[in-house]
Amino acid sequence: MTEQKLNRRQWLAKMTAIAGAAIAAPVLSGAPDTSGCTDCGRCMPCRYGVDIPAVLRFHAEAIKNGLVPDPSLPVESAAYRKASQRYLGKYSRAITHTHQAHRCIRCWHCLGTCPENIFIVEELEKITAATDKMREALCYE
Ligand code: SF4
Ligand code: SF4
Repeated sequence: MTEQKLNRRQWLAKMTAIAGAAIAAPVLSGAPDTSGCTDCGRCMPCRYGVDIPAVLRFHAEAIKNGLVPDPSLPVESAAYRKASQRYLGKYSRAITHTHQAHRCIRCWHCLGTCPENIFIVEELEKITAATDKMREALCYE
């Protein structure tokens, strides 16, 4: 796909947004908040295969249904491991591995596409960090 040619002003605006996001990303923290996703699809397609709306909706539903392991539990505890197994099982059944959050390489192609102002890359990063921790928990079996 060819990228639309930008004029100087548009290019500067885009670069400023990218730089701002890149600087902000490491200091932004906390649990993912993906509940605002309306599944409009404006952020798609992701050229690296992430099914952005499906991932965001899955995580929002998981929070709503109490499926996300309690982050205050020690990662090596049986309770955290059990909850992790449940979450990861449902995650992989709902979304194939090649379309999950960890496939995001921060290419920034989806930046600024969301009408709900969801900072997609940041949320995907938080979900990846959370699922990495859950996978780590499975090593304590
Ligand atoms: S930033 Fe991530 S989710 Fe967005 S288009 Fe690029 S790889 Fe896909
Ligand atoms: S553009 Fe925003 S609201 Fe629409 S599907 Fe993507 S993340 Fe969800």
